[in-house]
Amino acid sequence: MNELEKLLQEVLTKYPELNDYTISIKYSPMPDEHAKYSLGQNKTAEIEVDNALEKNYLLEKGAIAHELSHILKAKKLSRFGSWLVELEGILYDKSKRYNERDEIQTDAITISRGFGIHLLLLEFSKMVERTENNTKVYQKLQQKLHQTPQKVKRWLINSRYL
Ligand SMILES: [Zn+2]
Repeated sequence: MNELEKLLQEVLTKYPELNDYTISIKYSPMPDEHAKYSLGQNKTAEIEVDNALEKNYLLEKGAIAHELSHILKAKKLSRFGSWLVELEGILYDKSKRYNERDEIQTDAITISRGFGIHLLLLEFSKMVERTENNTKVYQKLQQKLHQTPQKVKRWLINSRYL
């Protein structure tokens, strides 16, 4: 078992409802997202994690927990018929409002399973990347945190023990 698979197993202990699922995990380069999931046949799923997160265990856990929350939502929905899961996929692609609501619900599950801090730091690390080239937002962030975003980012990368 590699390190990423071990992390998945650790996070999965907070998702006992997914015990009957076979979930595989791998790194992929992802410029726009932290991670994504896809559902397969017969209770299988695959999670891909942005390889830029490699060894940032705290952030990786947040990303894995978020994707597991999506899979859990899909599992609950599939009890009413697999067509509903497909319908949801279409809505997710076509409707911005549905997409946003779905992400909020997914994050709520992630937080309820104890990965709120991981999620917060994951979002923050993405925000830092986006604001590094946007001086106004960057200065505001700096004033509020009394820390430079880079400093916080470095802390995040170094806090592998968390
Ligand atoms: Zn999501």
